[in-house]
Order: sequence, then C-alpha cells, then structure tokens
Amino acid sequence: MIGEDLPGQASVVVIGGGIMGCSTLYHLARAGISDAILLERNKLTSGTTWHSAAQVRALRSSRNLTNLIKYSIDLYSALEAETGQATGWINKGSLSIATSQDRLTHTLRQKALADAFGVEATAVSSGEAKERWPLMNADDVLGAVWSPDDGRVNPSDLCAALTKGARARGARIYEETAVTAIKTKDGRVVGLETTRGKVGCDAVALCTGLWSRRMADLAGVSLPVWPCEHFFMTWAISKKKPFFVGGRSLALRDRHLSRRKLVGFTIEDSGVPLPQESNLVMRDSEMVGFVTSVVRSPSLNKTIGLAYTARDASEPGSPLAIRQDDGTVVEARVVAPHFYDPDNARQEM
Ligand SMILES: Cc1cc2nc3c(=O)[nH]c(=O)nc-3n(C[C@H](O)[C@H](O)[C@H](O)COP(=O)(O)OP(=O)(O)OC[C@H]3O[C@@H](n4cnc5c(N)ncnc54)[C@H](O)[C@@H]3O)c2cc1C
Repeated sequence: MIGEDLPGQASVVVIGGGIMGCSTLYHLARAGISDAILLERNKLTSGTTWHSAAQVRALRSSRNLTNLIKYSIDLYSALEAETGQATGWINKGSLSIATSQDRLTHTLRQKALADAFGVEATAVSSGEAKERWPLMNADDVLGAVWSPDDGRVNPSDLCAALTKGARARGARIYEETAVTAIKTKDGRVVGLETTRGKVGCDAVALCTGLWSRRMADLAGVSLPVWPCEHFFMTWAISKKKPFFVGGRSLALRDRHLSRRKLVGFTIEDSGVPLPQESNLVMRDSEMVGFVTSVVRSPSLNKTIGLAYTARDASEPGSPLAIRQDDGTVVEARVVAPHFYDPDNARQEM
C-alpha cells in the first residue's frame, strides 16, 4: 500500500517486513488483532530475508527453538492450502557430514540431542550418506547424520503467503515507509513518526533484524544486538583452509585493501558465459574491483551478482566491465548500490 494514507491509530505496529515481521503480523491477525499494521522502509523481504538459503532444520540448540521450528514446518505445509500462495516448502531431509573426528563427535552429539527433543535423526556411514547424495565426494567423510524432517522454503514466497493470510484478516502493510522516531509516555510506546506521517499505537513489534539496535535506540532502549560479517571466512583464511566458497574473493580483498563498495549488478545478455567469483572488474586497463558471487536467475531471466568496486563506479546504471579468466570481457550494469545496509554505513572496505 504505497499510495494509501497511514491510519491514525493501530493497536500494534510491526516494524520491518522480513520473515520476522511478516510472520508476526500474520500471527497477530490470526489472534484477532485485525487492525495491526506493518511498516517496511523499502519493499517486503528487501532486508536479510531475500538472501536466505532458507534451509529449515528441525534440530535446534534448545527445546523451545526446536518446538518453534516444528511448528514452522507444520505452518509451511498448511499456509499454501490456506492462502493459495505457495511457500516453496520442500521436505527433502538433510545430511550433516563430518570430515574430522571432532566434527563427527559434534554431529553425533547433535543426534543425541535430536533424540532427546523428539526430532528424528539417524547416524549413517559415509557410504550411506553418499547413497542419499550421490554427487558428494565421500572419500574424506567419516560419518554423517540424516535428518529426514528438514527441508527448505522460498523466503520471498513464504512472506507473500504470510502477508496474504494477514491481509485476509484485516491487517495492512505499508511499504516504502520508514520509521524515524518512536514516541513514548511513562515508559510505554504511544506512537511512531514515519516518512509518511504519524501513527499512534499501543504496542510495537520490533522486527528490524540487524537494524534493531538502532531502532531500539529511538525509544531509549539499549539492545545488545550487533551485526558481524565474514567471521567464519576470516577464520578459514587465517587458518589457511583449502578451497571454500568465497575464499578467492576474500584473498583478493586482502591483497587490494583500497576502499571499495559492495554493489549488485545484472548482465542483460543471457548469451554470454557466466563470470566467476573473483573475476576482475576493469576500467581501461586498470582493475577497479572484483566479483564476489554471480548466478543465473531463471525467474528474472538474467544473470545477477555482487561485486566490490571503486566508489565512483557504484551508482545504479554504472557499467562494469568484468574480465573473465580467458580474457574476454562481459558488460554488466550496477543495479543496487547497497546490500544489507540501505543507510550505507558499513559498505566500505
Ligand atoms: C546468505 C544468507 C543465507 C541464509 N540462510 C539461512 C538458512 O538457510 N536458514 C535460516 O533459517 N536462515 C538463514 N539466513 C538467516 C535469515 O535470512 C535471517 O535470520 C532472517 O531473514 C532475518 O529476518 P528478519 O525479519 O529478522 O530481518 P530482515 O529480513 O533483515 O528484515 C528487517 C527489515 O526491517 C526493515 N527496516 C529496518 N529499519 C527500518 C525502519 N526504520 N523502518 C521500517 N523498516 C525498517 C528492513 O528494511 C528489513 O526489511 C540466511 C541469511 C543470509 C544472509
């Protein structure tokens, strides 16, 4: 609802249109709070949610979290029947594989935890693991645990189904509406200021993911949430681990420590060969950046990717000449100047 005015009052305002916000709105509406509204500063799922691989793993570290996931699995199956909107739920099971003795001990502990929490999980040999996933090179696999209840969803479709279910019960969603201030009285939230006017409310559900600390600050609340990135990869590089996805581009980043921005790009010509991670972005004969990931999107019918590039080549529409390993150059175009961080506070490296 981009054109529609905000209501003057709502009993609950959900801030943030990722999976947490969409699910919260749906469950509020289902609980009978039909005047609840959701405010999203950009588009639904435009934060972290659309990036998600959206694997749904039944086993969690505590009984409560495990029960939440079990509930989610039931919900994903039922939501499509309720709303007519597919969620992309596929229940194919998952394998946790171990290639070291320590990892095997950890994996078997997870299996024991699964038994305690009532989640089905079976310890399998490397041969049995390979039978379940024949593409795997099982030469160095010591063992695995098979979890048949696991699966995956499509995060954007799931949000679409949740919001469809919420709207059908009266809830309203306002995209391109950023919350700029939270008003409190006697320690309680009484309203919000947004880029599209004010709204009074009895309660706020803060579903702003990695931006939640900044949002809570608006109400004078200190929230100990801090985003961190690449911690695993940095560890892998410092330990000189062999090949892992993202390793080449991180090594390049370490070699070229000039300031660059992470941008999204597309390649319109579907006929050109797919660039690879760490292919260089060139200007004249100078390297100005490199590709960190790239994929062919069947739904968009084009190639999309991420690259670190010089700041003066980061505006939407800027051309990026990507040089492939064989020397050929593919023309791409910047489409999104920021990822994870629309306020552009943490994009430099
Ligand atoms: C590459 C990747 C792979 C992942 N894989 C998995 C996986 O396999 N399984 C899994 O369970 N999880 C996975 N995750 C994690 C999962 O995606 C996140 O935990 C989840 O999407 C977080 O959802 P959220 O709703 O809390 O936050 P977000 O999706 O980030 O939503 C927060 C929203 O708040 C909005 N917002 C911020 N400030 C304001 C404001 N002032 N006013 C209005 N709106 C505002 C933002 O625009 C944003 O849309 C993955 C994440 C990534 C990045």
